[in-house]
Amino acid sequence: MTNEAVKEAGISIPGEKTPFKSKDQWKLGTKGKELLRVDSLKMYYPIKGGFLGRTVNHVKAVDDISFTIYEGETVSIVGESGCGKSTTGRAIMRLEEPTAGRVWFEGTDLLKLTKKQMLRKRRELQMIFQDPYASLNPRKTAAQTLEEALKIQQIVPADKRRERAIELLEMVGLAAYQADRFPHEFSGGQRQRIGIARALSVNPKLVICDEAVSALDVSIQAQVLNLLKKLQKELKLTYLFISHDLGVVRHISNRIIVMYLGKIVEIADKASLFNDAQHPYTQALLSAIPSLNPANKKERTILKGDIPSPIDPPGGCRFHTRCPFARDRCKTDTPELRKVKDRSFHLAACHFMEEIEAARSR
Ligand code: SF4
Repeated sequence: MTNEAVKEAGISIPGEKTPFKSKDQWKLGTKGKELLRVDSLKMYYPIKGGFLGRTVNHVKAVDDISFTIYEGETVSIVGESGCGKSTTGRAIMRLEEPTAGRVWFEGTDLLKLTKKQMLRKRRELQMIFQDPYASLNPRKTAAQTLEEALKIQQIVPADKRRERAIELLEMVGLAAYQADRFPHEFSGGQRQRIGIARALSVNPKLVICDEAVSALDVSIQAQVLNLLKKLQKELKLTYLFISHDLGVVRHISNRIIVMYLGKIVEIADKASLFNDAQHPYTQALLSAIPSLNPANKKERTILKGDIPSPIDPPGGCRFHTRCPFARDRCKTDTPELRKVKDRSFHLAACHFMEEIEAARSR
């Protein structure tokens, strides 16, 4: 695919050395102002073995992915467990150091920052985790947790921290009288609200939500998703939403990235993806979403076998061992992401997507 087509599709140009020629250039993205650009990101974990404990192989958790997030939008990454979606979030935050690639945030390459500079930068990028209970100190009250975050980033004077902590709790739908309660005195949904308040305490621009509602009951999930949407509007936030559940992603995303075994296989606007998914893997994920309307019931595509090991991923198209449409070419040629028909913001990585689409509509 040409660089022009990639640019038009609203994703990064892999390998582009200097995407921002001037300070203002990052404001001129196809879909508005670019906030984050991930370029050719790789995260390989070495496997040690043998007599001398040398590196004998690598787990290729994320293998050369590129995408862009524009200010104010919600981009979701979906895929099965082990596809590399959470690793991508952690690599952007530099909670783990990527093996290769670049992560541009408002024109700054985060991977070039020193540890100290990155700590300061984390004010602008925050993360919400799946299990808020594990990330909350059981010996600290809700207010103390938030006051501590404010103290670390030194953005509120000491005598104003409690006041701000209560403001934050109210912002996420908790009450002032709950400020002195400990984590075990809150429900799962309320604990996640404290996690959200803590992330927002430092006024971030980008919030990475890593399976942020996966541990919650369906009704509570809806409440937390609605809260995230409300806060996005009020605070002009941008989200990277990571989830294994396309049903959840549907409620919050503007654009969706589908990952399989460390690679992006499809990227599209929400409507385009849900109405006209092109990659057989995305189609299988969509077929698994239960529909409440019997008229909309689709036949479920059951994928054969398990997701292969990222230590030794299949050659060619990584999905070929499970794809119902695989042919010989799929075993040897790696499909590139390419534009779907006349869709500006829809790319998929399948050699035969046009033929599969034609067969589907017959
Ligand atoms: S390239 Fe081949 S194996 Fe991969 S998704 Fe397309 S048809 Fe299936």
